[in-house]
Amino acid sequence: MTMYLDNNATTPLAPEALSAMQAALSELYGNPSSLHQVGEQAADALGEARRSVAALLGVSARELVFTSGATESIATALQCALSDQTRRGRTRVLTTAVEHAAAMDPLSRRRARGLEIVEIGVDGRGALDGQRLEAELDERCALVNVMLVNNETGVIHDVRAIAARAQAVGARVHVDAVQAAGKMSLDLGQWPIDYASFSAHKLHGPKGVGALYVKHKAPFEALFTGGGQEGERRAGTQNVVGAIGFGRAAHSARAWLASEPAPERLRDLFEQAILADIPGTFVQGGTRRIWNTSNLRFEGLSGEALVIWLSAQGLCASTGAACSSGKQAPSHVLLAMGLTPRQASACVRFSLSRFTTPAEIERARALVAEGVRTLRALAPAP
Ligand code: PLP
Repeated sequence: MTMYLDNNATTPLAPEALSAMQAALSELYGNPSSLHQVGEQAADALGEARRSVAALLGVSARELVFTSGATESIATALQCALSDQTRRGRTRVLTTAVEHAAAMDPLSRRRARGLEIVEIGVDGRGALDGQRLEAELDERCALVNVMLVNNETGVIHDVRAIAARAQAVGARVHVDAVQAAGKMSLDLGQWPIDYASFSAHKLHGPKGVGALYVKHKAPFEALFTGGGQEGERRAGTQNVVGAIGFGRAAHSARAWLASEPAPERLRDLFEQAILADIPGTFVQGGTRRIWNTSNLRFEGLSGEALVIWLSAQGLCASTGAACSSGKQAPSHVLLAMGLTPRQASACVRFSLSRFTTPAEIERARALVAEGVRTLRALAPAP
């Protein structure tokens, strides 16, 4: 039986999201922009989904735009903030050295077009360099772009405090909250931020649908034009079925968050057992971490070899972000934390979900120990 501990890459659908989508696929075929009753039914379902997602995030439904996923949400947020701010002569962007490629790549393309992109580094535990941030933040800043939870280490950044500082100098703030939504309680409407990005498939919703939070009165410039959908903020007929799945997944996540007092219990058990069982093992990311993520370094081992070995035994883990784990390059997040390329390539990320059971964790722990022993015996460290 497959044990899936790669939930930061994507999650299986929540059963209630699946059944809501199955029903919607056959019954809610209307175009939500149509005036007739079949269209209205689809529009009503879309509205309900938007309210569910908004409730999970602690924002108003009117401030949410459905998108095709976080990559599109991030690209839109960057366009909104930067088009407006560069017109005002602000051309500097503060971002972090540990962002997901969905933010890093569009920002580095803008660097080539003359924007000044300043990357704030992190310390060995993955915490942002607050002093550097403070020193770089001034009236030239157009935007502060920061992730709330790191996808590779689970480190939680103090985004609220950073945003307050950014707002004080007139910079816009975008938060990549992809790995936070559904895993921690959020009331983003109370935060001094302008935009935030989300993907449904990270919280047991479907792939190919996401959301962008746009604070009331924050500047907006659509990435896609040619239709009045989403309040003229995202042209194109909405993915109604996807949004319904997102809404149901958000609804369940919110109920779970209200009922689960100590979700880190299983992850901590897993880590403690592995650290005790296997010498030369280290946890990466020592500051506040989200409850589901465990990035472990096994000295002298190839993380990729361990992931392949574990996969053959039915355990799915990962060497880093799914979109970059096909590449050979060591993780930019781990390098930014001061690991050498060799150390970074000895890391494996295990990411749990609220559906992970104690029995799975026990089995995973035993398999990881066996895998590390086997691989170390095959290729002893020099
Ligand atoms: N941001 C973070 C932190 C992520 O983990 C991901 C996905 O791995 C994304 C952005 C991009 O999400 P998507 O591929 O759903 O657009």
